[in-house]
Amino acid sequence: MKIIIIGSGPAGLMAALTAAKDKDNEIILFEKSSSVGKKLLATGGGRCNLTNTLNINEFYPKYGKQGRFTLSALEQLSPTKLCQFMLDIGIETTITDGFHIFPKSGSALDILNAMMAEINKQNIKIILNTVVEKLIIKENKVYGIKTDNQEYVADKVILASGGKGYPKLGGSSIGYNLAKCAGHTIKELLPGLAGLVSKEEWVKLCTGIALRNVEISINLPKYRKKIEQGDILFTHNGISGIPVINLSAEISTLLLKNKTVPVRVNIHKNITVSDWQNIIQKWRTKSGKKTIQNLLCEYFPKKISKLFSLNLNIESKIAAHLSQNEERKLIDLLSNTIINIVKTEGFSKAMVTRGGVSLKEINPKTLESKLLQNLFFAGEIIDIDGPCGGYNLQWAFSSGYIAGKNFEF
Ligand SMILES: Cc1cc2nc3c(=O)[nH]c(=O)nc-3n(C[C@H](O)[C@H](O)[C@H](O)COP(=O)(O)OP(=O)(O)OC[C@H]3O[C@@H](n4cnc5c(N)ncnc54)[C@H](O)[C@@H]3O)c2cc1C
Repeated sequence: MKIIIIGSGPAGLMAALTAAKDKDNEIILFEKSSSVGKKLLATGGGRCNLTNTLNINEFYPKYGKQGRFTLSALEQLSPTKLCQFMLDIGIETTITDGFHIFPKSGSALDILNAMMAEINKQNIKIILNTVVEKLIIKENKVYGIKTDNQEYVADKVILASGGKGYPKLGGSSIGYNLAKCAGHTIKELLPGLAGLVSKEEWVKLCTGIALRNVEISINLPKYRKKIEQGDILFTHNGISGIPVINLSAEISTLLLKNKTVPVRVNIHKNITVSDWQNIIQKWRTKSGKKTIQNLLCEYFPKKISKLFSLNLNIESKIAAHLSQNEERKLIDLLSNTIINIVKTEGFSKAMVTRGGVSLKEINPKTLESKLLQNLFFAGEIIDIDGPCGGYNLQWAFSSGYIAGKNFEF
């Protein structure tokens, strides 16, 4: 069978290797960039957070409402099977913190090199610097593809062209347009896993400051339950860090209908309101002559302590003189700081794309189009995205695996 794969990301490479198990298959993989797997190389800061330790029943709900769609792919190539696949091609993996799984060497390049070494042993041809511009379609069947100067026929075409984020690593809309021209519905494309831009000026004054052990949630009634935890970073225009970017796709969606989206930040998640009351009481009795600003420095960076004291007009107030009302306001600020988000950092810095080819039009067991015969999808082009933690690479590999498999035609 002649198989064409569009895109050399983890989904396309895995599809090629799976398809190559059938020695009768002739596989051509097209990549518009000058090299393969550019985004894969950048994953996990170059270390590649492949997947994590959750079992598949805990894993699939992390993709949100769409999660059930991934179940079939995850059953066929689970996180455990992915690690075994990596081991089989010479890559040992390691669990770094009881949860995240990385290659033991800490190098995404090793993964790409190992996959490419396997590709080079198989009947797989890679054509670089070539954009697939069109799918050849006749009577609800895909017969091949067109580049700018040539047509290629195929019995099966796998569209693994990835998302729109990080254009410098290959992100683009071309694949979505191919799917759209083939009649597929594209769910609105929005930036996911991106930093957030805030309205507040004080946030910008904190550029470069990191806060550990923060709790952050969208401050709208329906969203309060979804709390993200971890370390956040103040950037030149807002906030970033894993708990922040994990909320960004949701916030992108909310910003379609709201000018701003408030997020609530508890800037020290391990200190409760009653803990703060006790701490302030101690400050009054034991450190009464010290300023609140200085005392806050025991818990937060100097800049934050200063800005919070300024915000409440207590910058030179000593602990002994702090009124009950000021104490209440201070505790509220420490555990319920509101930051208004006006936008995300956009597709240029979005690690994933929310939206994509509608799940209703794809068979979850084979990833074949329900609209056109011989057309398959894999990876981020499909309307699936997950949070940080290896969920997106696992999806790319699992979906590539089943899209590359030979099913009955
Ligand atoms: C900086 C960064 C860090 C990340 N870190 C992690 C992480 O640690 N763990 C994790 O799980 N996820 C991570 N992700 C997300 C993950 O990299 C993606 O979800 C994953 O790469 C998607 O795989 P894919 O194969 O679907 O698409 P891609 O990797 O985007 O590959 C698609 C390829 O198709 C090519 N292409 C597109 N259109 C055409 C066309 N018409 N013709 C020819 N070629 C085409 C593109 O050039 C691209 O090379 C990270 C993303 C970024 C940007």
